[in-house]
Amino acid sequence: MRPNPLLADTDLPLDERGRLICRTDLRVDGLDDVWGSGDCTAVPDLTNPGAYCSPSAQHAVRQAKALGDNVVAVLRGFEPSDYSHRHNGSVASLGLYKGVAQVYGVKIKGFPAWWLHRTYHMSKVPTTRRKVQVLTDWTIALLFKRDVTSLWSMHEPSREFAAIAKGEPPAGRG
Ligand SMILES: Cc1cc2nc3c(=O)[nH]c(=O)nc-3n(C[C@H](O)[C@H](O)[C@H](O)COP(=O)(O)OP(=O)(O)OC[C@H]3O[C@@H](n4cnc5c(N)ncnc54)[C@H](O)[C@@H]3O)c2cc1C
Repeated sequence: MRPNPLLADTDLPLDERGRLICRTDLRVDGLDDVWGSGDCTAVPDLTNPGAYCSPSAQHAVRQAKALGDNVVAVLRGFEPSDYSHRHNGSVASLGLYKGVAQVYGVKIKGFPAWWLHRTYHMSKVPTTRRKVQVLTDWTIALLFKRDVTSLWSMHEPSREFAAIAKGEPPAGRG
């Protein structure tokens, strides 16, 4: 993980890794009207003194909500609250039907960890409609072999954009 290099073009306070230095209430260090959250920030982890919140969705989604609440609080003349969340654990899938997980200190591996990984992510998919779409897709995928996916856009993310900007036909998906 590394913060967006765009930050280096600002005059905001950054740490040695290029992360935006924030306070525990998610305001940028030394500034009262600038806020930060998520992967690009260094927010002190109140549950682990001396450390910073890890670059994970677990923190990013909670910080986003806390940041929104704090902005509203300040606009209404109240003090912002400190952000604090104890890391619940990690889950990861390793290919098909295998995974590893450590949840609340309990280590799990193999199929149960893979299932936990899938179930956890399903619980985070927003809206019922989207949940049904993803669940249907996963269920259908059980009946077939692995999908083949073109990865060119990961290696050359701006290729198509550059072609269109030059007035050329889209570069195609080879
Ligand atoms: C492969 C992978 C697996 C992961 N698995 C997990 C996991 O299992 N559990 C977990 O908790 N976390 C996981 N993470 C980490 C998690 O995805 C991030 O911590 C989280 O998405 C950070 O949220 P964010 O809002 O800070 O940044 P992002 O989600 O990266 O959002 C930043 C947004 O800003 C946009 N942007 C960038 N530059 C500009 C610009 N110049 N102008 C306008 N918009 C811009 C981007 O397009 C993007 O939409 C994983 C990450 C990766 C890459």
